[in-house]
Amino acid sequence: MLEKFDLYEDILGEKVDLEKLETWDKKVVWHPFTQMAEYEKYKPLIIVKGEGNYLIDINGKKYLDGVCSVWCNVHGHNVKELNEALYDQANKIAHSTLLGATNIPAILLARALLKIAPKNLKHVFYSDDGSTAMEVALKMAYQYHKMKGENNRYLFVKLSGAYHGDTIGSVSLGGVDLFHSLYKDLLFETIKVPPPFPENVFGDRKEAYERSLEEIEKVFEKYADKIVAFVMEPLVQIAAGVITHPKGYLKKVRKLCDKYNILLILDEVATGFGKTGKYFACELENVKPDIMAISKGLTAGYMPLAATLCTEEIYRAFYGGDYASGKTFFHGHTYTGNPLGCRVALENLRLFRKKGYPYTLKEKIEKIEKRLKEELLDLKHVGDVRGIGFIWGIELVKDKKRKIPYTWKEDVGRRVSRKIIEKGVFTRPLGPILVFMPPLSITLDEIDFMVKVYKEAILEVLGC
Ligand SMILES: *Cc1c(COP(=O)(O)O)cnc(C)c1O
Repeated sequence: MLEKFDLYEDILGEKVDLEKLETWDKKVVWHPFTQMAEYEKYKPLIIVKGEGNYLIDINGKKYLDGVCSVWCNVHGHNVKELNEALYDQANKIAHSTLLGATNIPAILLARALLKIAPKNLKHVFYSDDGSTAMEVALKMAYQYHKMKGENNRYLFVKLSGAYHGDTIGSVSLGGVDLFHSLYKDLLFETIKVPPPFPENVFGDRKEAYERSLEEIEKVFEKYADKIVAFVMEPLVQIAAGVITHPKGYLKKVRKLCDKYNILLILDEVATGFGKTGKYFACELENVKPDIMAISKGLTAGYMPLAATLCTEEIYRAFYGGDYASGKTFFHGHTYTGNPLGCRVALENLRLFRKKGYPYTLKEKIEKIEKRLKEELLDLKHVGDVRGIGFIWGIELVKDKKRKIPYTWKEDVGRRVSRKIIEKGVFTRPLGPILVFMPPLSITLDEIDFMVKVYKEAILEVLGC
């Protein structure tokens, strides 16, 4: 594999070999969400190529991509149609600005997105990634009220365990204490309500569901005229540990928002583009958000691109007069509407249509649920197997009988995940929860292989 890296040798003027790459990676690359002292103890996994649903490392070893490159890949890697779309676009133009100009892929993609999105959404605001899509959503909602002359709305309501990205605005909307509380002095004011899921896996789910809705209503009642929006990840809070919401919950939340005249912002960054078996998770409950953020699957995992979709009502509040009216939405990024990203996103949607996605995914989804539950649910250290569509979590517990969970600090998820990787499936856990989230292009045989590897790894690391 290494001969391909001759290019780098020219730039740096130094001979590149595997050992050097490993050393340099540890020395100069600061990895995200990573304790570097811990990272340094292991050989880095250097990926050089992708082939279908597999990642290939620098030694030529193949790994099935079990977390679809952390939740964004859709059709596998190195996909001919997507490669060609990118190449073709690059031969025209890679980037031109949307500030004062426009481009064909951005126009066509906006139309294509509105075709598959909930029907009340009528306008598309582009940005770069999930976090910026949420920044756009929150600023748009906040300014919307101001444009309507309501100046005392400043509170966002969110769920515990919520994850909306890592920029300061989206961290403000987040509710994962482990990595959000650290920045609390920098964050704006929000109100946190419990999700419809107990604090630990052994808790009472029905009670949690009812309590969540009660708390939301209490907060809405008390602060109705101060609330900017209710913000949530629909149906499943993945980063929180694949926290699934019971059927009907999202619909009830929408009803409460309507009752108290509160905007609903849905973060479909991770759940969009087939991952739940629909284009967007909210379709499963027939719920229409006022604002919707999308990103991860948008370009099939090829390019950083995101969009925030909104209703006509919201768009109209900003519309009218001239710049002096102060109604302009003051937001934009250098790469907003990037033609390469938009073009590959269009090709992604074309592939959806060609393959009949998401409608043809049913067999795979049923198989994933069935095989995971059959093989893993009865294991001594598996407390729960939960998920929806292609998004699954396997929660490891210390003692199922005595109802003792593992804590985040015991590192059990990482220990088992390392074994899974060793056995040829790439994954990344969330605390004690193993993540099983293959691309939509996974085959039925590959599902069997993944389940087998997860089971073996759990048994080998934690015992029977
Ligand atoms: C990943 C994610 C984000 C943030 O997206 P980035 O592209 O990492 O900034 C926001 N919301 C949800 C639900 C996500 O899963």
